[in-house]
Amino acid sequence: MFLSVFDVFKIGVGPSSSHTMGPMSAANRFLDLLLSNEWPRPSSNVHVASIKVSLHGSLAHTGIGHGTGRAVVLGLMGERPDSVDPDHMDGIIDEVERSGRITPPGHPGYQFQPKTDLIFDKKVPLPGHANGMSFSAFDKDERLLVKRIYYSVGGGFVVTDTELEQMRADKKKPAAAGSRVPFPFASAKQMLEMSERSGLSIAQMKRANEETHMSAEELDAGLDRIWSAMSSCIDRGLKVDGIMPGGLKVRRRARAIHDKLQEEWRSNRINPLLANDWLSVYAMAVNEENAAGGRVVTAPTNGAAGVIPATIRYYQHFHEDWDQDGIRNYLLTAAAVGGIIKHNASISGAEVGCQGEVGSAAAMAAAGLAAVMGATPEQIENAAEIALEHHLGMTCDPIAGLVQVPCIERNALGAVKAVTAASLAIKGDGQHFVPLDACIETMRQTGYDMSEKYKETSTGGLAVNVVEC
Ligand code: SF4
Repeated sequence: MFLSVFDVFKIGVGPSSSHTMGPMSAANRFLDLLLSNEWPRPSSNVHVASIKVSLHGSLAHTGIGHGTGRAVVLGLMGERPDSVDPDHMDGIIDEVERSGRITPPGHPGYQFQPKTDLIFDKKVPLPGHANGMSFSAFDKDERLLVKRIYYSVGGGFVVTDTELEQMRADKKKPAAAGSRVPFPFASAKQMLEMSERSGLSIAQMKRANEETHMSAEELDAGLDRIWSAMSSCIDRGLKVDGIMPGGLKVRRRARAIHDKLQEEWRSNRINPLLANDWLSVYAMAVNEENAAGGRVVTAPTNGAAGVIPATIRYYQHFHEDWDQDGIRNYLLTAAAVGGIIKHNASISGAEVGCQGEVGSAAAMAAAGLAAVMGATPEQIENAAEIALEHHLGMTCDPIAGLVQVPCIERNALGAVKAVTAASLAIKGDGQHFVPLDACIETMRQTGYDMSEKYKETSTGGLAVNVVEC
């Protein structure tokens, strides 16, 4: 099994990796398909004239709050999650609504009126996954020419229905089958065994795997780019005030809290909650940016994007011996744990609830932080397990389908738990009661047993018990 660190951490836009970035990428893939020879044309005179899209399952239920429709329109205009300019998104969407056409670069232009050609189908889920999408292209006489089903499986990953089946079949194969990396660990147990045999740390093994696909310089530059995007997101979030979009009228709080913390810091006043407060404000800054549709890094999802940046900034703030290599090792270790969770369970709130999003982010952050604090591989595995164990069962019930309440504060608490988990693990010897693999399997089973109401549909929990004003 190999999942690159750059698949786990992707630069994109808010508010959701599965409901915003995934659908935008699916639209990109459909455009690429239209230009390809991968579908049979009835004759050379037949051309695509119009496109229709339907969204299903969780994408239909919470898609409006998560900006899914906007993301599809932007994707059909050729915009990509890592390069779309958040300041220009509204203008692009207004233009499509005004003209009733999409005009992606390199394409002839197609009819597409978002109000009628983009359907939020809450009645019929698609069979493969809770986040299903169907894209169809028609000729000028409205005859169907080509149709594709895509699934957004969490963290911005998008697969077709056939790729989804292949992915599920691959999970059943032995870890090393077909792998071209030196350390093809697919579980925490294998990761620890390979580490012991090789004498390498988790970050060193992950680095060796990555370097089969790119040079050491490219890897370091990519890791630095990821941290730079995370760090800029914190800084932007700490500067902006006001109400977040979507209609809930939730006010941004990170800037005001940050101002108070800075005042305290300057006056040397003793604050027994100092580290917690800074962790929380960094995480909230990222998630407020995410909620506003700004530039963020999926880590491993957008809804959970604040936990990892907050704990890295905490490492810079409170650990005098931090350095750039430490941040790279943190990201590599966190990605190793995130890959194991994704492979054996899920990082998708629509599949397993918030335990799969903020719980996974906290496990990854605890592992990364433990690594840079000098933990052994066993202590790192212990740190990830503690953090994940204490998110088990956590539901996903965002109010009004917006990634705001409970998501923003939840990231703050996820970051605090991650630091506590790393600290507890480092005080032990790595021996512990619940293996990380057992905890991941528990998360998977709990998620699959969970009612759909609590899996990013906003039909249960806080989403129905809090009156919107
Ligand atoms: S509640 Fe958790 S899983 Fe659900 S949208 Fe918010 S952060 Fe994501």
